[in-house]
Amino acid sequence: MKKIGPHVSASGGVQNAPVNAMAVGASAFALFTKNQRQWFSTPLQQNEIEQFKARVAESGIEARYILPHDSYLINLGSPDTEGLEKSRRSFIDEMERCGQLGLTMLNFHPGSHLKQISPEVCMDRVAESINMALDRTTGVTAVIENTAGQGSNIGFAFWQIKRIIDGVNDKSRVGVCIDTCHTYTAGYDLKNDYGSVWEEFDREIGMHYLRAVHLNDSKKELGSRVDRHDSIGKGFLGMDFFRRIMQDPALDDIPFILETPDESLWAEEIALLHSLEIN
Ligand SMILES: [Zn+2]
Ligand SMILES: [Zn+2]
Repeated sequence: MKKIGPHVSASGGVQNAPVNAMAVGASAFALFTKNQRQWFSTPLQQNEIEQFKARVAESGIEARYILPHDSYLINLGSPDTEGLEKSRRSFIDEMERCGQLGLTMLNFHPGSHLKQISPEVCMDRVAESINMALDRTTGVTAVIENTAGQGSNIGFAFWQIKRIIDGVNDKSRVGVCIDTCHTYTAGYDLKNDYGSVWEEFDREIGMHYLRAVHLNDSKKELGSRVDRHDSIGKGFLGMDFFRRIMQDPALDDIPFILETPDESLWAEEIALLHSLEIN
């Protein structure tokens, strides 16, 4: 069975995240290890760390199926010197927090050029930022999420992600998370050309870099470059797509994270997705 779970709340402390995951029958989950709207927050306390680890152990969910997401403020390709420096410090802090929690990955949106630098310069800056973070930390892989290409976000085309990876020195600690909503609105037709999209991913980036999937339906059309997630089966991707991806053996050993908008449906969505695995 595939490992599936939502991006759960860590409100009240990271130690609450595994409890929230278990409550909806999850076998994987995502979380923020600090307030996602702040650059920095108080260091994790020893008791929070211990409780988090104990509860993860109780849940039976392995670290490789837990995918922390970084703060929305961080822009590792920022055109602005001060913004870039702050983003890099904050990202390193998040990598360290993941390590303290016994986690092995940190998922992030690569960055935005804000129309002040070229997309290519922005991508190379992201690679440099990843190098700095990997140099200063151990044990945690930087997982680049593909974007919808909204606004000046880079990382919506596979070649852009490849360019970033090419600039990373330690290839063993960089990976990719494919968000199905972002992929579709970036213009890759996962609904009608499922096989060719993954072939293109493999050709341009390489399947061995794939560390996770964000499993979302899309409220917006193919190629719209708009990031609006929908609940499973309710958007443009539709149920046939979800059956196809749930039965794809190439994606067996990575976490499937739901970032679907209606959290009252999460338990149902997880059960539904598991039922699609077998019929
Ligand atoms: Zn996502
Ligand atoms: Zn999104």
